[in-house]
Amino acid sequence: MARNIQAPKKSSVLEDATMVATLTQSGGGGSDAVTKMANLLAEKLEKDKANELEQRDIALAARKAGAEAMAQKREREVAFQSNCPHMKPWGGPSIGGQRDHQGNYRFICLFCSKMWINDELPAHLKIALDRVGGPDS
Ligand SMILES: [Zn+2]
Repeated sequence: MARNIQAPKKSSVLEDATMVATLTQSGGGGSDAVTKMANLLAEKLEKDKANELEQRDIALAARKAGAEAMAQKREREVAFQSNCPHMKPWGGPSIGGQRDHQGNYRFICLFCSKMWINDELPAHLKIALDRVGGPDS
């Protein structure tokens, strides 16, 4: 006669807590073991919660550091762009351009990557528009 062999059930914290509650409610003797188990369980729950909070703090700190690093990078970029003459050392603007699908001209400094759209480009940096490629419109 074959017997069903069941794999031992994985216990979860919730199951442990339910078991402790059941044992506690049944009352009577042997409460030392139950109390001890309840204390261990409470300790474990407290540790889990503390660990979870710590992980959250670490993630928040990492995000904050990332945001600060990005802001600093952008500051350096803006400072570099504001000090760039956008001119080639031997004369003439160091500007490249591209026309987009809406027909806008997008200009970019080849040294500092500062961008301008259409008329935003200062007059002394203008380049011949036939040098600007893009989709046929
Ligand atoms: Zn530039």
